Amino acid sequence: MSSGVTHVSPAREELCSIPSPQLTQPVSEAASSTAHASEIVEPVAEEVAPPVAETNGSVVSAVPQGKNLTKAEREGALAEVAKCVADCTRCSELAQKRTQTVFGVGNPQARVMFIGEAPGADEDEQGEPFVGKAGQLLNKIIEACGWKREDIYICNILRCRPPGNRTPEKSEADNCREFLDAQIRIVNPEYIVCWGSCAAKNLLDSVLPIGKMRRRWFKYESARVLCTYHPSYLLRNPAAKKPVWDDMKLLLSDMGEPLP
Ligand code: SF4
Repeated sequence: MSSGVTHVSPAREELCSIPSPQLTQPVSEAASSTAHASEIVEPVAEEVAPPVAETNGSVVSAVPQGKNLTKAEREGALAEVAKCVADCTRCSELAQKRTQTVFGVGNPQARVMFIGEAPGADEDEQGEPFVGKAGQLLNKIIEACGWKREDIYICNILRCRPPGNRTPEKSEADNCREFLDAQIRIVNPEYIVCWGSCAAKNLLDSVLPIGKMRRRWFKYESARVLCTYHPSYLLRNPAAKKPVWDDMKLLLSDMGEPLP
């Protein structure tokens, strides 16, 4: 482990010692911790969101801001958070029924972070997000963009599988939010793609249907955020593949990357 990683351990102590009542606050209070998302009116608005640490003050403030960290330091910081997640029992039903937690995977220095909903059966079994049929479709989308899966950082709103793959409860998303914010803080992506309604609504604290969140740029921390349909929706509705591809082309264009 590089010398730069050693300073993370005290942070983990602080991170893991957070009392659970702080993490099961009423939704109205929890919503205040997600108030750092906003829609961008083109051209890109000036930064309007305060740093996460200033608004949250617990798990997120206990992890280092990834901007000035090396790749190894970011990997170390993420590993510390992942250890806390592995022991997490904030959502009692999920903690009791999961096979394992599913933290996140990919490049800790990724320009783009993908956020999905929650682990399914395959993810719960393998411990990695997006490895089932929807994940295989996501891999094809990644390849079509000219990337490799390992170029992206991939995670979910929840780190435990909801029984029967039900939609995550708001309270569960709130419980897990600090881990997500910690990952965002460490990876510090330029772009975030919210795959599906659950990711879009929870990250951006929005009530809009996913169809109305597409084709618009939002901002969360320092990242530009794009929302699109979840790959599992595409499996059920192949006609939605074209709008998703349009969204990917919008992303690539904004990133200054060549269109395939
Ligand atoms: S979903 Fe997140 S907050 Fe809930 S038990 Fe799992 S790791 Fe903890």
